[in-house]
Amino acid sequence: MVNPELLAILACPACEERPPLERRGDYLVCMQCRRAYPIREGIPALLEEESLPLEAVLGKDAHGPLSEAPPFADN
Ligand SMILES: [Zn+2]
Repeated sequence: MVNPELLAILACPACEERPPLERRGDYLVCMQCRRAYPIREGIPALLEEESLPLEAVLGKDAHGPLSEAPPFADN
């Protein structure tokens, strides 16, 4: 679990505007640059080099406000 108060002050290290991050499962995601930062044992790894593309984290099962990304091509 990530402390909600901690989550509230976390911001994306890759964006100058430091937008708030959104919890998605075991990741914190930045909607602005579409990166996902893994949470390891309750500790978010907020490093650009640790981040993954948001699409790689959400995958095909993603629904909801974050799923506006183009779906994976099924060819
Ligand atoms: Zn960002």
